[in-house]
Amino acid sequence: MVRNARPPNVLMVFPRFNPNSFWSLAPVCEVWGARAPAPPLGMITLAAMLPKGWNIRLINRNSDDVTAADFGWADMVMTGGMLPQQDDTLVLIDLAHSFGKPVVVGGPAATSSPDVYRGAEFLVLGEAEGVIEDFINAWLAGAKSGVFEAPKFTADVTKTPIPRFDLLKFEHYLYVGVQFSRGCPFNCEFCDIIELYGRVPRAKTNAQMLAELDALLAAGYRGHVDFVDDNLIGNKKALKRFLPELHAWQRKHRYPFQFSTEASMNLADDRELLEMLREANFFAIFVGIESPDSETLISTQKKQNTRRSLADSVHRIYAAGMFVIAGFIVGFDTEKSAVAEGMVDCIEATSIPVAMVGLLTALPNTQLTRRLERESRLLPFLAGAGDQCSAGLNFVTLRPRRDVLADFRAVLQSVYDPAAYFARVRHVGRVLDRPRLPETIVWTTVLKELRGLARTLWAMNVTRPQLRRHFWATVIDCLRHKPRNFEYMMTLSVFYLHLGAFAQVLIKDLDRQIADLDAEVGAEAVPLVPAA
Ligand code: SF4
Repeated sequence: MVRNARPPNVLMVFPRFNPNSFWSLAPVCEVWGARAPAPPLGMITLAAMLPKGWNIRLINRNSDDVTAADFGWADMVMTGGMLPQQDDTLVLIDLAHSFGKPVVVGGPAATSSPDVYRGAEFLVLGEAEGVIEDFINAWLAGAKSGVFEAPKFTADVTKTPIPRFDLLKFEHYLYVGVQFSRGCPFNCEFCDIIELYGRVPRAKTNAQMLAELDALLAAGYRGHVDFVDDNLIGNKKALKRFLPELHAWQRKHRYPFQFSTEASMNLADDRELLEMLREANFFAIFVGIESPDSETLISTQKKQNTRRSLADSVHRIYAAGMFVIAGFIVGFDTEKSAVAEGMVDCIEATSIPVAMVGLLTALPNTQLTRRLERESRLLPFLAGAGDQCSAGLNFVTLRPRRDVLADFRAVLQSVYDPAAYFARVRHVGRVLDRPRLPETIVWTTVLKELRGLARTLWAMNVTRPQLRRHFWATVIDCLRHKPRNFEYMMTLSVFYLHLGAFAQVLIKDLDRQIADLDAEVGAEAVPLVPAA
């Protein structure tokens, strides 16, 4: 049966993230007057792939509520996202069904674990570019259900349309994402990116990328743009062809955007690339350091982080004008009992304020999961319990589990002590060498920043008086030594409003888990330092 000629109403709903997650950043959003960190780039890209006449309504459940009227309007509900959104995706499937609406689920979580979402009528698995046409044709032909799976790693991203930025309310977000490439050439055992997007990075064309930035600019957006690539430097050749054009575009428009991204540590070895990123106005890079222990890095197939001084590498990135956010993992098989000390030393030596320290997690469909399964050590993965910071270690550990948790706790306790955190911010404030760039003053942005500054002062002095002296010591140090880094020192200080509180929540939960394990084995509980 062919469906009637009226173009369908598509309700796209981006599920809520688990609030118990490192990236929830609620207090940071509060300071900057945002409702969520970032808009759903995947969904607005998918929206651009649907037939022109289809009516689209986008609701981000992290910033808005979906109503009965929205469901009443819809002919179909499209949803899906990442693993920390799994619970809400399942809630949305039930909700849509209670209104009698068919559901289409896609995105990385459904691609990794399709069985979890079997309640939906349609599953669109893999990269949408390779398969969305099949779904559209099936829908138009009257299909009531179906599973559409894209061939792996072959989607031609040079054909990806410009995301529908017009569907966004920019004022709801801290930053906006764009994507240049997919895939990463490395082979880290725990990584699901290479399983989803492959190890041969595919990049958009320069013209395509600049057209996206043109569209973002024309839509009125200014400020922080995140390249959401899992490793922006995965295809260095393509990136080095693009960055000079990005630099020229920024110069022509008087630097309306400042960029952040994720990259592998070998970025620090390439001075030319660092200079190009600096010129294009990249200000922050997320790097997966994972472990300071070479044996662990080798066994987890992260060799790109070995044979180097991590502190020197990170300082080269600071000198190029970008501050570093880094991921660290506790729980590898090869870890020694001194892992906590080594990790804390590494974080201090690199002076990385925002260190995302988590537990090793066997994500669905990874080499790690397959190995642990073979070794009969795999435990259920509970996507709803949080992220790798709040709910990792879903396997039988080689070291006593209690010791691994106690090491994780020790790292959190040490690196998120406010004195230690703000001391690292002060160090970065002195060594970060931001370029001097001409900028256009946008009064709406200035007003937003003034409001953010007022809320920061309120939070640091009134609602969290315990941070007052650390904060002011950082402000004074920055103004004395490098006042032009003030904006970045404020950003890193505001991060602590989330990280300090989040660390305390994790520590409390770890204390409970450790006490339970002690009780289980009847061991004499080692007294733990109470959370500050
Ligand atoms: S470098 Fe990052 S994206 Fe690449 S394989 Fe390793 S963890 Fe995955």
